[in-house]
Amino acid sequence: MKRESYKDFDATELYCPRCKRAVRVRKSLLLILPQGEKYDYACAFCGTSVGDKLVTSKGNSRILV
Ligand SMILES: [Zn+2]
Repeated sequence: MKRESYKDFDATELYCPRCKRAVRVRKSLLLILPQGEKYDYACAFCGTSVGDKLVTSKGNSRILV
């Protein structure tokens, strides 16, 4: 299995604790904050939130899982 880098977070799979396996995720804009936009990643199968990411206006992204 090919392992994607965290740079390709949008296209990669994350571990879902409910499905107990790596799953495809759906990205959705959660919040717009002064320091950037916060995206939520939810399991495509059960909808459990499996992570989120803060994209700052400077173009840096920080992944919070
Ligand atoms: Zn799931």
